[in-house]
Amino acid sequence: MARINQNYEKLAGGYLFPEIRRRVQEFQERNPGVKVIRLGIGDTVLHLPQLITGALSGKAEALGTDDYTGYGDEQGEPPLRQALAKHYLDKFNVSLDPRVFFVSDGAKPDVANIGSLFHLSSRIAIEGPAYPVAVDSSVIHGRAGAFNAATGRYDGVYYMPCIEENGFFPDLPVQKVDLIYLIRPNNPTGATATIAQLQPFVDYAIRNGAVIIFDVAYAAYQSTPGLVSSIYQVPGAERCAIEIGSFSKWAGFTGVRLGWSIVPESLVVEDSVPGELHSMWNRNRCTTFNGACNIAQAGGLAVLTDVGQAGCQQIVEYYMNNASIIVRELRSLGLTVYGGVDAPYAWVKTPKGETSWGFFDRLLNEAKVVCTPGAGFGPDGEGYIRLSAFGTAENINNALLSIKNNLKL
Ligand code: PLP
Repeated sequence: MARINQNYEKLAGGYLFPEIRRRVQEFQERNPGVKVIRLGIGDTVLHLPQLITGALSGKAEALGTDDYTGYGDEQGEPPLRQALAKHYLDKFNVSLDPRVFFVSDGAKPDVANIGSLFHLSSRIAIEGPAYPVAVDSSVIHGRAGAFNAATGRYDGVYYMPCIEENGFFPDLPVQKVDLIYLIRPNNPTGATATIAQLQPFVDYAIRNGAVIIFDVAYAAYQSTPGLVSSIYQVPGAERCAIEIGSFSKWAGFTGVRLGWSIVPESLVVEDSVPGELHSMWNRNRCTTFNGACNIAQAGGLAVLTDVGQAGCQQIVEYYMNNASIIVRELRSLGLTVYGGVDAPYAWVKTPKGETSWGFFDRLLNEAKVVCTPGAGFGPDGEGYIRLSAFGTAENINNALLSIKNNLKL
């Protein structure tokens, strides 16, 4: 008889967005006709530049002609892998062989699947608060113990608090861990990283045979000089780090679906030789994935052209202008606000020690604005809410006006 993977029963998540939906729906039933402004979800809203939609539709049209193509390389089409490698060289001064880039259907599946390369006993370390995919997928794989409702944490997982006291950058683990998941710029705190901050992590990983899994989904949102856009800007990282990137927030591809992972040949762990993890990931791609959508890849290639980059940069700047309005206006009300400078999320401290959900309810009921309660990203997010800059300027301005006029502070 088939039996279920009982690890799914351990999952505590899946609660955040349904709970937000439930509360918003309840509010709307109580207040019919009242419009709420949603600054909760991190989804892009702006139109794509024409060069990119042209490439997407051009490829779709080509499928109806003699230029039809079927299965492509599981690792991604060579021109796109080459364009990604060139982008890393031109923009980040990181020289990587195009063969180490594996094109995917987005960063989320890559973050969730990459753990399959490592022994089940590997101990994971995650930032708290954090986008939940790394921890949830590790639970599914069987790398975590039970969820402890009292602490809000899984047994066996090493949590690295990223809180006000440490400038939202994690301290080095004081116990031995094997897989260190880092998101920089971070979702939800918007905190970034410099080479000087990451070097100790790279040194730790090399010393302990650990692997850093570095999520750069928001790298394009950074403008402050000196911030790391790729872990491979940190000396030694090619020996101990995997990087996962996305076209979603960078190029408005949340629905198109395109991302990449980088597994260098020089990456080694305790029982592997150089090249082994790279070929294992190659094997994984060939076995479990048949390559990213060819239409999406044509769009990705357009994103990486100079014109595509200029178009995406305009969109990034639009969202970052929203972010700076959020930060400025909330600060003017006396609120403490982090993030929102090199990331599209503002991380707002709740006033007077209010709980995340308490402040969420007040924002909704008093100002008609929907946010994401920080506690939904783990216990270290308690006492904060996240506001997303992914919206139209009109919505952002209306939300802030309503907060100013209606929220009791
Ligand atoms: N990584 C982080 C840190 C995210 O916040 C998100 C989406 O919100 C993703 C990855 C998902 O990326 P993708 O759309 O490429 O799957």
